[in-house]
Amino acid sequence: MGLGSRWITIALFLIGLAATIIVVRMQQSPPRLAPLVAEANVVAAVPVLSGDALPQNTDLLRITVAPQALPASVSIETITADLYAALAYVSERTAINLTAPIAVRINASPDCALHGVAYTDIREVQVFTCSALPPSRAVNILAHEFVHQLAHDYYGAAHLRSDPILLEGWATWGAGRYWLGQMPDFRTFVGTRPSLPLVASHLGRPAAEMNTLYYQWASFVEYLIITYGRAAFDDLYRSGAGTPGSADYQGVYGIDLPALEAQWRTWLNNGGS
Ligand SMILES: [Zn+2]
Repeated sequence: MGLGSRWITIALFLIGLAATIIVVRMQQSPPRLAPLVAEANVVAAVPVLSGDALPQNTDLLRITVAPQALPASVSIETITADLYAALAYVSERTAINLTAPIAVRINASPDCALHGVAYTDIREVQVFTCSALPPSRAVNILAHEFVHQLAHDYYGAAHLRSDPILLEGWATWGAGRYWLGQMPDFRTFVGTRPSLPLVASHLGRPAAEMNTLYYQWASFVEYLIITYGRAAFDDLYRSGAGTPGSADYQGVYGIDLPALEAQWRTWLNNGGS
């Protein structure tokens, strides 16, 4: 009797806990449709920014900078030039152009926690930074967010339900030198680091693990494009269902994700040869 009631108590507690978690998750859900993509610090990138004259279409980026978000020495003209250079770079690298202007908000982060977000359905990207951080780090983040918008413009509605391995892998790969620093490619970058499983959630992870996963996914995307070509990758990207590993790897490549992951790990290990 006592044991039975204890189990009932435990069961009721677990049900209550589950209900609480569901309520909390609902309350934490973003008001807008995915991808609401929060990115953590980018640890490695040391980009070479051209700072050249603005491209001809200077209406594509509608930039606003909050007070205290950037060092006082950085002018709006300088950050604007750097962001147009980043957009031109990722557009060329992905072979995708924006279909319409986007809003770019550079926000002040009270605790200097650098991170970004892309609301691609309303054509707005944001970065949170502070005046103590080099502006180049905010540009690195925004280069990645730009690629999310390019993906939305290119893949359409399919982008909003894409496989996170491909969604974040593509945005990180697309950001290229802005996330690679002195490394020539993501294969080289990841090849020297321990690996997490490809099928994993990036949400709720510590920043360092999240970054590791993003770089791994980028090198996986790099592997897929080099090995099977861009057209097949586009088919794969469009086939996702919103969760890691949900894209139709078997249907597109004739080989399932675990086998592809094994091939990718072999490719990484042979990176120096
Ligand atoms: Zn992202």
